Amino acid sequence: KRLDKDFALFLDSHGYDYFIKSYDKTDLNNSPALIICATDDNGLNRQVYDDAKALNIAINVVDTPELCDFIFPAIVDRSPVVIGVSSNGKAPVLARLIRAKIESVLPSGIGELAEKAGQFRQTIKDKLHDINHRRHFWEGVFGRSLQGESVGELADELAKFTHDNPNPVGEVYIVGAGAGDVDLLTFKALRLMQQADVVLYDALVSPEIVDLCRRDSDKIFVGKKRSNHAKSQEEINELLVRYAKAGKRVLRLKGGDPFVFGRGGEEMLACQAAGVPYQVVSGITSALAGASGAGIPLTHRGVATSVRFLTGCYRTGESFDGLTSPYHADETLVFYMGLHALEDLTQNLIKSGLATDTPIAIVANASLPHQQVLTGILSDIVAKQNEAGLPAPAIIIVGKVVGLYRG
Ligand code: SAH
Repeated sequence: KRLDKDFALFLDSHGYDYFIKSYDKTDLNNSPALIICATDDNGLNRQVYDDAKALNIAINVVDTPELCDFIFPAIVDRSPVVIGVSSNGKAPVLARLIRAKIESVLPSGIGELAEKAGQFRQTIKDKLHDINHRRHFWEGVFGRSLQGESVGELADELAKFTHDNPNPVGEVYIVGAGAGDVDLLTFKALRLMQQADVVLYDALVSPEIVDLCRRDSDKIFVGKKRSNHAKSQEEINELLVRYAKAGKRVLRLKGGDPFVFGRGGEEMLACQAAGVPYQVVSGITSALAGASGAGIPLTHRGVATSVRFLTGCYRTGESFDGLTSPYHADETLVFYMGLHALEDLTQNLIKSGLATDTPIAIVANASLPHQQVLTGILSDIVAKQNEAGLPAPAIIIVGKVVGLYRG
């Protein structure tokens, strides 16, 4: 019986003793702290296990989870940062692959940075009294490091941070979450979602997207489905300003794009009026997601040269009552919030001069797995929709481009 060469070398170089012999219960007499049993004899394994238990010694019988008091997780060691991955004995290869994946995304300097952070913690506490301020500092430093950017000496980072952020004032992010599909989020939206302290989100933002926001952020539903506003716009504006002034980073997460029928403009003005810093981040508006999802180009060479975005429902609650400027045959119209007013909408388009056989499409739940499309012409779409009953939210596309729809 011989030990594996590398293992023997390891033991020798670290000055460990080892004995090559058959198992005997008396081997346990000098009370080892723990036992690893790795024989290929199940009966012997069981016996060692029972002996260990009788003496209250922790044991790991290799590849036999039911005979283990402790496990060896696959480890990523960037001390002082240590990450253990365990599948509880179910799938060790998977645990190893997960570890490799984590290894590959962790920048090499992360352990050193954590070590320095530990030494620097008290200094930061002394200099930055506000807990939110401190968290912003650390999130900036660690966030950049995790993204592979270089981080300077912490004293320099602190000087720069206090210069850039003289007061622990928060900020408002007015962010478009896209039309619904998680994959339509922008990287910027995702980054801000993951650093926000407070999230105010709409009904049109899907739960999968809200789930991607920072886990410990406060998430506030502010509603906004037609005629079901959990909070009024004024209340929302006020909340944004109030949280930001309390030093929070407030994410206003909105369906589609914040500046397209999203009242993001009012929120921006409220921030301006209150002197609160803000950023606006564009999102993929439902007109665009609906058009691409349905395969209806909004402009098309020889068919349409311009697009108008309109609403089927005015601020007063009244339905669309006709175009304010003449319709050109080479133009595409896209209506938001129009489904419930489809009849008024089509009649008033005809009154505005559109031919009764102008093609029209309804795209419901654009970009989502349950997206539906219904096409027709101005004079028959109401009957078709009464039959089909497409649900909200839906956008409505009007014009010759709808003829390009192929289902
Ligand atoms: N800011 C949003 C629009 C908000 S107004 C944006 O840029 O998309 C609400 C209207 O948007 C709904 O009435 C509907 O017309 C449209 N809408 C939002 N999400 C949609 C979706 N996934 N599919 C179709 N229409 C949608």
